[in-house]
Amino acid sequence: MIATNTKIWLSSPHMGGREQFYVNEAFRTNWIAPLGPNVQGFESDLENFLGGSHHVAALSSGTASLHLALILCGVGPGDIVLCQSFTFAASANPITYLGATPVFIDSEEDTWNLSPELLERSILDHLEKGIKPKAIIAVHLYGMPYKVNEIHQLSEKYNIPVIEDSAEALGSRFNDQNCGTFGDLATLSFNGNKIITTSGGGALVSPSLSLKEKAVFLATQARDHAPHYEHSNIGYNYRMSNVTAGIGRGQMEVLDDRVEVRRRNYMFYYDRLNVLEGVSFCQEPEGYYSNRWLTCILLENTEMRERIRLYLDEHNIESRPLWKPMHLQPVFREKTAYVNGVSEKLFDKGLCLPSGSNLSEDDLNRITNLIFKAFEL
Ligand SMILES: *Cc1c(COP(=O)(O)O)cnc(C)c1O
Repeated sequence: MIATNTKIWLSSPHMGGREQFYVNEAFRTNWIAPLGPNVQGFESDLENFLGGSHHVAALSSGTASLHLALILCGVGPGDIVLCQSFTFAASANPITYLGATPVFIDSEEDTWNLSPELLERSILDHLEKGIKPKAIIAVHLYGMPYKVNEIHQLSEKYNIPVIEDSAEALGSRFNDQNCGTFGDLATLSFNGNKIITTSGGGALVSPSLSLKEKAVFLATQARDHAPHYEHSNIGYNYRMSNVTAGIGRGQMEVLDDRVEVRRRNYMFYYDRLNVLEGVSFCQEPEGYYSNRWLTCILLENTEMRERIRLYLDEHNIESRPLWKPMHLQPVFREKTAYVNGVSEKLFDKGLCLPSGSNLSEDDLNRITNLIFKAFEL
């Protein structure tokens, strides 16, 4: 019998063991700066992981990388950016940093991501009014790839670039190709709760070296080539530190294992909870491989979702409702949205379960036993 009542977090950092070696290297060599061998090393680890044909710029956060991606797509004041509504606010906030306007697009049922049907309708509506949207932000939410073929076909058909928000999807694949390599630009996050972490950090992924170089230029204050400080562009301070990049290098050594364990967590929950009436999961369609960053379940209704969430909370276990769609957020209430009810339903009924790669089998048993008890209340 498991008597412990220790706190179980939704998704907590999980070091592999070699992170401190790389951090110590930064101290030993005095590379305590937003550049240095760990930054280069982490970038090349990521490039290799993604398949070797993309270029990676390590940055201070996923949000910063989305901001730079929008700048590189030429987004500016008055522009329209089509953005998945069912996501974390960081996908959408950078649109507003640039004085552009987000238009929110609802999800489809299979992957819970951007609905190709609504995306096309929104494009056509805008084109009819003589407005060409500047970019599409598509998200692989919870690690599940979006409908890659359909979304990128629309991108090509209407010649609108896709920014692929892969913050939650490092290690996910579609038809054996890595998430982070589909977009005109892609963004990664290494925040504390992501599948690997640098305590805080992000990256911009680009198929072209010159775009990466442009991103690094903007991320390091847009300094022109001159002995003094000369500037002909507005710059940012968005580069990753060589200290935190050391954590990233250590984490890259265990990324495959982290994906495997998160997928195993999902299977554990699925096998245990699938028998409960009214519980359902987002399953992988053919060709989809999710890193299962977070395991999510759908309950019959909000009341049931809250019953389970609060019961777990009473027992010192953190779980969380799914992301509240952007079109329902007070800060974005005035924005145009193309809605079909899918993301609202997911928000009403969905719960993220503890999904860290450092959960023990005892933890998983404790969580699922409590969910069974909550059903009997
Ligand atoms: C975490 C996250 C981000 C932002 O990344 P930060 O590194 O926290 O700035 C962006 N989009 C999604 C979908 C995320 O989950």
